[in-house]
Amino acid sequence: MYDCKILYVLQVPLFTPGLHPPYHETHKSAIVHTTHMGLLWQSNRYLSEFSTFGIGGKARYFAEITSPLEMEEAFSFAREQGLEVLILGKGSNCLFSDEGFDGLVLLNRIDFCYWNGNVAEVGAGYSFSLLGIQSARKGLSGLEFASGIPASVGGAVFMNAGANGKETAGALYSVLYLDLRGSLHQFCREELLFSYRYSPFQQMQGAILSASFVFEPSSSARFKQLEIIDRRIKTQPLKELSIGCIFRNPGPEISAGMLIDRCGLKGCSIGDAAISEIHANFIINLGRARAKQVQDLIEKIQQTVYDKTGVRLEPEIRMIGKHGSI
Ligand SMILES: Cc1cc2nc3c(=O)[nH]c(=O)nc-3n(C[C@H](O)[C@H](O)[C@H](O)COP(=O)(O)OP(=O)(O)OC[C@H]3O[C@@H](n4cnc5c(N)ncnc54)[C@H](O)[C@@H]3O)c2cc1C
Repeated sequence: MYDCKILYVLQVPLFTPGLHPPYHETHKSAIVHTTHMGLLWQSNRYLSEFSTFGIGGKARYFAEITSPLEMEEAFSFAREQGLEVLILGKGSNCLFSDEGFDGLVLLNRIDFCYWNGNVAEVGAGYSFSLLGIQSARKGLSGLEFASGIPASVGGAVFMNAGANGKETAGALYSVLYLDLRGSLHQFCREELLFSYRYSPFQQMQGAILSASFVFEPSSSARFKQLEIIDRRIKTQPLKELSIGCIFRNPGPEISAGMLIDRCGLKGCSIGDAAISEIHANFIINLGRARAKQVQDLIEKIQQTVYDKTGVRLEPEIRMIGKHGSI
């Protein structure tokens, strides 16, 4: 049923200078197939291109998804071929392995935002930061904390991203979800049990297609949002390649960054993977870091913090191995 004839071989360098670590070099070609709907399947795309960390090997198959219909078609292809599927938003919380991912990576670009009063219906590929800024500019409160988080809306719902004592679930009203079998679900917020950096979607197989949010009118929303972005600029290494905080905070009053800092680990590095001098819970890629070096550094932090404080730090990031989450 798929018209998978090879159209042509792309002769483009997949390495974009400045965005991705140089060790990938230019790589010759990605074979491109097309389907009836015009969906392009590519092979051998480096996942480092799609992670804010700039780290990761190749995906066996890769496609950009711009509509729910394309997502359905991609799932059907994955079922036929028996492929594992990974939905990717902005890649701001994923550590991809150096061996890549032996399945189908679907980059979510379902990118729309419709407003109706204080309600927004937003595509899962839409920028979460932009949503936070736009709502605050409208004098609407609920997602001021999102500004500066380089996430997609789908990724933010999946991770229940949060900051400044607020989280995504707080403003969420409903989620449109497509499971891997191709069935569509509309979930109300009340049906979904969220907690700290956790959503029930982490136990499910499928894609968040869109989400709706309800906001509260507030004259201070824009001021609050500007304060938040100002604080981020001062306290986070935003100019570096990273995937945000590596570890979950062990408790509401204890921050992982503070513990790592107290153990004297700031600046510590393995290869080009280094603990940020600006924020101890950030690991930054100095240019040519490998996933293995990041993993080794994570283990080193865990061991040192445990030995010195008795606290076992748990990673908050998603580690994606050759065969899925690890
Ligand atoms: C500089 C910086 C600052 C950050 N600050 C914060 C912060 O303040 N608070 C915070 O919580 N996080 C923060 N993060 C981490 C990150 O932005 C969040 O975890 C975010 O929610 C990830 O969204 P994403 O679209 O990048 O998801 P990705 O990294 O692309 O994916 C993360 C997980 O979500 C899944 N996923 C993504 N989209 C979908 C979808 N549509 N359907 C189903 N599954 C999906 C993926 O399969 C993966 O398992 C920061 C990161 C950076 C780099």
